Amino acid sequence: KDFRNNVKPNWCPGCGDFSVQAAIQRAAANVGLTPEELAIVSGIGCSGRISGYINSYGFHGIHGRSLPIAQGVKMANKDLTVIASGGDGDGFAIGMGHTIHAIRRNIDVTYIVMDNQIYGLTKGQTSPRSDAGFVTKSTPQGSIESALSVMEMALTAGATFVAQSFSTDLKDLTALIEEGINHKGFSLINVFSPCVTYNKVNTYDWFKENLTKLSNIEGYDPHNKEMAMQTLMKHKGLVTGLIYQNTEQKSYQDSINGYSETPLSQADLTIDEEEFNKMIAEFM
Ligand code: SF4
Repeated sequence: KDFRNNVKPNWCPGCGDFSVQAAIQRAAANVGLTPEELAIVSGIGCSGRISGYINSYGFHGIHGRSLPIAQGVKMANKDLTVIASGGDGDGFAIGMGHTIHAIRRNIDVTYIVMDNQIYGLTKGQTSPRSDAGFVTKSTPQGSIESALSVMEMALTAGATFVAQSFSTDLKDLTALIEEGINHKGFSLINVFSPCVTYNKVNTYDWFKENLTKLSNIEGYDPHNKEMAMQTLMKHKGLVTGLIYQNTEQKSYQDSINGYSETPLSQADLTIDEEEFNKMIAEFM
């Protein structure tokens, strides 16, 4: 159950992504997985390197496409636990179409976004998660666009598991990843993971001052979607914890009549030639 490998991450010292890596490794061990039972698919960006730093199956994909690949892996082998990961630019800019459709599809994949509100790998440009007024190389006079409210977006798109965390809250983040893995359906976990090199606004201290833990809000009920939406709007999305979970809705796989008990990757997919020709003839 050791999810550590001997690859040394080349993230900047202090990058929030280190804690996310540790949380995934701990959560995977805590839910009783072995490295052979876990696949991590990542996109492009500093955070995309994470699939190479964990002892499991790993796939470092292309920009914004971690979710299509992760969904393909899950469909081919339903017995694998599949985690997709990437940054806010990867998942909420170029990959946003995939994010929304994976959410509404409710396929059994856990998506962990390392949200640092900037493009780190390309040396500091404004991302869809940067606040209005944010000054970077790409917006020297301050961004004139407002930040995307991703948690609200996920609720609107029909997400069945929406959570948010802060990379230094290792215990809470680990527990949320465990819950996400155990959730039967798509789970989105957005993690505030500071970029210490290029984002000098949304720092560790800034998050400590501005984040509210949902566990400190009296009467908060993560099964009440209306309450989830109102709380997000009141706190401008700056909350951590399990925001919303719907355990009633079936996952994508469970909604398919007769979905194979045997993973497709191990199933006998041989087709009788006569049957195949008959099927093709119907399309001619
Ligand atoms: Fe982390 Fe930012 Fe360095 Fe990338 S540039 S490794 S996001 S601190």
